[in-house]
Amino acid sequence: MCTKRIICVNKSEDILSALRETPIAELLLSHNLGVQVRKYDRPKILICTCMDYRVKLKIPEKYAFIIRTPGANLVDSHFGLATAVAMRSIRAVAIMAHTDCAMTHIADKSEIFIEGLTQAGWGQEEAKTYFERQAPEHSIGDAIQIVIDQCQRLRKHYPNILFAPLLYKVEDGKLYQVTE
Ligand SMILES: [Zn+2]
Repeated sequence: MCTKRIICVNKSEDILSALRETPIAELLLSHNLGVQVRKYDRPKILICTCMDYRVKLKIPEKYAFIIRTPGANLVDSHFGLATAVAMRSIRAVAIMAHTDCAMTHIADKSEIFIEGLTQAGWGQEEAKTYFERQAPEHSIGDAIQIVIDQCQRLRKHYPNILFAPLLYKVEDGKLYQVTE
């Protein structure tokens, strides 16, 4: 369902004016509507999305760099972003949340996490320490808010780059624009 915060893309006119004629618009049109994007000799966009197995993007070959991290959180992957910008002249970055993200409140799931690592051969204490160190900065709370926050933070570091927060709904496999 579309809301003020989550904007559907069912036709090209639905694309927010700030995103029209950009690689972000092409991503939305390609994924949601199957529109053929311009042929590029090199990628024009970096997409950062979650590692979740349900997120499956419909984009042409060679169209995009893709960084997949837990919860689309770039906390451990900034070098990938910097490399795409510096070495490949990327000027548009989509940071994409998705619905039903397991990284939402991962910090509250210590028992199951530690038990899982223990079954994989970790020591109980080692697993507990690892979880306690890592979980707070990987727990994303509101999946949509974290992509907005990341876009706003990264714009300050990269004022010449277009950052767009997007949402992938696993329920219908469509992409949505997120208003800030
Ligand atoms: Zn996720």
